[in-house]
Amino acid sequence: MIPEGTEVVLRVTAAGVCHSDLHVREGGFDLGHGRRMSYEERGVKLPLVVGHETTGQVVAAGPDAGEIDPDTHYVVYPWCGCGSCPACKDGNEQLCVTPGFLGVHRDGGYATQIRVPHPKYLFEIGDLDPTFAAPLACSGLTTYSALKKVEPTLKSHRTVLIGGGGLGLMCLQLIKALGGQAPVVVDIDPTKRAAAIEAGAAASVDPADKDAIAQIHAACDGAPMAAIDFVGAPATSELGFDVLGKGGTLIMVGLFGGATPWALPLIPMKSVSVRGSYTGSLSEFDELMTLVRTGALSPIPTRTWPLTQAQEVMDLLEDGKIIGRALLINDAEATG
Ligand SMILES: [Zn+2]
Ligand SMILES: [Zn+2]
Repeated sequence: MIPEGTEVVLRVTAAGVCHSDLHVREGGFDLGHGRRMSYEERGVKLPLVVGHETTGQVVAAGPDAGEIDPDTHYVVYPWCGCGSCPACKDGNEQLCVTPGFLGVHRDGGYATQIRVPHPKYLFEIGDLDPTFAAPLACSGLTTYSALKKVEPTLKSHRTVLIGGGGLGLMCLQLIKALGGQAPVVVDIDPTKRAAAIEAGAAASVDPADKDAIAQIHAACDGAPMAAIDFVGAPATSELGFDVLGKGGTLIMVGLFGGATPWALPLIPMKSVSVRGSYTGSLSEFDELMTLVRTGALSPIPTRTWPLTQAQEVMDLLEDGKIIGRALLINDAEATG
């Protein structure tokens, strides 16, 4: 791989396996009401290397990339925009109208090397383990940006996290790092509920229980003011909406698919805000990495597999069999 212009080529040291990779593999999303979003119709060309949680070390840099130390270990910000649309000019490349996200629109990290368009997307990881640092680029940044949107109530109220997978556990650790109250985690899987309690959740609730909302209210000492839905299915967003107190905020993060199930009159009557949150900005990633370098963030459980087993690991994730984060690595030291 020969870098051109400002490009930098890294040798990949770890690649996180994210739920979004499954959607890229499927080719799109179910939008409900019989609609579907297709990556192909949006100009994504195959073959494509997925993977947007990547760490690596520089092997080559283009003539305009400047001096880069080959011994420094980096995590890659993958949500690269065009640089010239209004969102990019506002510093929100993740909301770019013609995005070039690594692992979605351009080749990503399930590979031995990755091409990064500019060194501004590289963040030093210092002594952090690559398997800890790689997931920060998506699950870390996504949860950080979601939490920033409910920051005013993080310390005064318990937050409800729906989905105890990689994102939910990362969010739990970030709430602790930000000094917030221990959250309540909702998940249908008893193993994930146990992992959430182990990680410090105030309570974990099975949404299939008839009194799930009453259980959440009891654990929150009243109706919560913030819920974050990391699943994004009709049933989870319905629970997130219904559980909130008046004036509360539901942040939608998960991309499972489907259409909204909310009672429309209750949106004004409860004065509920429903807000989407998609990954995070380059400056938020800078904030997150600064926080992480202080040592405030505890690691989430991780397991590693050799890169050659990428398909199998994606199948395990699809079947809900991954606790915490799965990572692909290039050497033979995988634990999976
Ligand atoms: Zn992701
Ligand atoms: Zn743009």
